[in-house]
Amino acid sequence: MKCEIIAVGSELTCGKTINTNAAFLGAEFQKLGLESNFHTTVDDNTERIHEVLKQALNRAEIIITTGGLGPTHDDLTHEAIAGFFRTKLQKDKKVLKEIKRKFDLKQKKMPKINIKQAYKPKNAKWIPNKLGTANGIIWKINFQGKKIYILTFPGVPRELKNMWDETGKYFTEKISGKSCIYSKVLKFTGIGESALAEKLKGFFKLKDPVVAPYASIGEVKIVITAKDTSKQNAVQAANKIAKSILKKTKDFHFGTDNETLEGLAGKKLLLKKKTIALAESCTGGLLSKRLTDMPGSSKYLRFSIVSYSNESKIKLLNVKKETLKEYGAVSPQIAYEMARGVQRLGNSDIGFSITGIAGPNGGSKLKPVGLVYFGLALKNKVKIQKMFWGQDSTRDEIRFLSTQFALNWLRKNL
Ligand code: ATP
Ligand code: MG
Repeated sequence: MKCEIIAVGSELTCGKTINTNAAFLGAEFQKLGLESNFHTTVDDNTERIHEVLKQALNRAEIIITTGGLGPTHDDLTHEAIAGFFRTKLQKDKKVLKEIKRKFDLKQKKMPKINIKQAYKPKNAKWIPNKLGTANGIIWKINFQGKKIYILTFPGVPRELKNMWDETGKYFTEKISGKSCIYSKVLKFTGIGESALAEKLKGFFKLKDPVVAPYASIGEVKIVITAKDTSKQNAVQAANKIAKSILKKTKDFHFGTDNETLEGLAGKKLLLKKKTIALAESCTGGLLSKRLTDMPGSSKYLRFSIVSYSNESKIKLLNVKKETLKEYGAVSPQIAYEMARGVQRLGNSDIGFSITGIAGPNGGSKLKPVGLVYFGLALKNKVKIQKMFWGQDSTRDEIRFLSTQFALNWLRKNL
């Protein structure tokens, strides 16, 4: 089933507001296994709303609009749709009472302009809005012999999301046929999107379940979406595909659904009853931030030092002056001494260090921007790892990629 999104609002077309509603709905369509080929954004103008509506009616079976349900003169989505189909809007006294009640609750008198939010076509259904006064409408339309549904939502993202979760999603599922949808997310790191796609070539051609990749810095997600009349069958179908995918990609897979690297690393530390102390240089505390994002992390994280200067490495971590002089701060030798130093200082089971060149300046031919060393001090040995993120990576990317690697490496070594 083909779905389209029309976002209405001059604040969107002039770039003042980013169209996060389309991003949200697009992802929801994907989860439901619905085809979504067009997002249109249009300003608060009746003629132009008609123009984009006509295009969408020719292409889609479900059209979702957001924005323009407010009480002011520039909020005209319902009026524009009604005008297009020459449908009359009628006052719904029950809904008007409800809107008045919402104002009463705030000890305010309802302004007269809000009355228009109680108007809808006689046969259409409301999409109730718990969080605001702008209710949406489900319009069932016959356009050139084709049955089409238009669902309208307000622009305020949290209202739209709530109304979608409570009404829109279920209605869309119902009319799109197979009603049970199940999505499984497999998460990968240490491999790029194209290399992963190469391994999974055949899977992206599947129609049901649908398999789609999503890449971000240091992480690729594979989303498997199965649809069926029974939830159990949908889960089974998605799990079956997940199993075959993992056979080909096991080495890079780290988690599923909502699992994160910091969560998994923390869980492993807790499970193995290990404590850790961190010495970070180029990541400036980002690794510590990510580990402490997890509630309960005080059970395993002793402390973290951001030893940015050579002096701090010497004074706090007991790194040798001579080593710094001979090999430089970004070297396996310093990663080693930092890891051991922080482990001793923290009296922890594990000492972990990161030292590298985040750029954009400070690189050389021998030690280019993007070069990072990691040290992992365990009881009897210190492991060292060298990574190079490429000179075209930005400072933010190098820092984030370093923490991705660090968390994954730590997790694998526990
Ligand atoms: P309301 O009843 O709150 O007036 P509305 O449907 O008229 O609802 P708008 O006036 O268009 O909504 O927008 C309300 C708020 O939501 C504004 O802050 C606007 O920036 C934001 N908004 C509108 N459309 C979008 C969108 N597509 N993505 C993200 N934010 C949006
Ligand atoms: Mg608006």
